[in-house]
Amino acid sequence: MKLTQSQVRMLQSVRSQGQQAVFAWHEGRTTCRGRTLYSLHKRGMVSDDGLCLTDAGEQALNDNRKEPKPRKALPKAGKKVRAWDEIRTKELKPAFKRAGVVECELRWPGCMKDNYLGFAHSKRRRDITTPEQMREVLICCQNCHDALDLRPHAETEAIVQTIIAARRVPVVLPVLPTK
Ligand SMILES: [Zn+2]
Repeated sequence: MKLTQSQVRMLQSVRSQGQQAVFAWHEGRTTCRGRTLYSLHKRGMVSDDGLCLTDAGEQALNDNRKEPKPRKALPKAGKKVRAWDEIRTKELKPAFKRAGVVECELRWPGCMKDNYLGFAHSKRRRDITTPEQMREVLICCQNCHDALDLRPHAETEAIVQTIIAARRVPVVLPVLPTK
């Protein structure tokens, strides 16, 4: 049974604060609560003394309980994220391993050497538009990565490119298909 908002409030009030409801009931108010309560009584939802809910009243409240909002599903990984995941796991990780580059390449103060390693790009994520840019990376620890990200963009790019060029054993990546 569909109840109005005020009827729902009234039923809830009867259930939780009988005295308040009874007050309205005995006052015989014709507006607001009293009236709502009376109409609910007429429909068998409230007991004769207005003190408690009948089974029909409980049922009506249950029926009018708002459906919980369905939880939002986690957003699906975007195109860029999926592409990066693919490159990272299928190309970069094996290539860096083959070249023996398995420790932080920056070694700045606070470096964690071979802990919390990840790939640091020459460009900021939003500026990456080509597969080549996605592959222009260093392996580095989280501390160095954070410090690198604090540098101006152009400087970050220069640092990454310089270190890539100076690698004793180059990290050989699969040749990209030409368009
Ligand atoms: Zn480091």
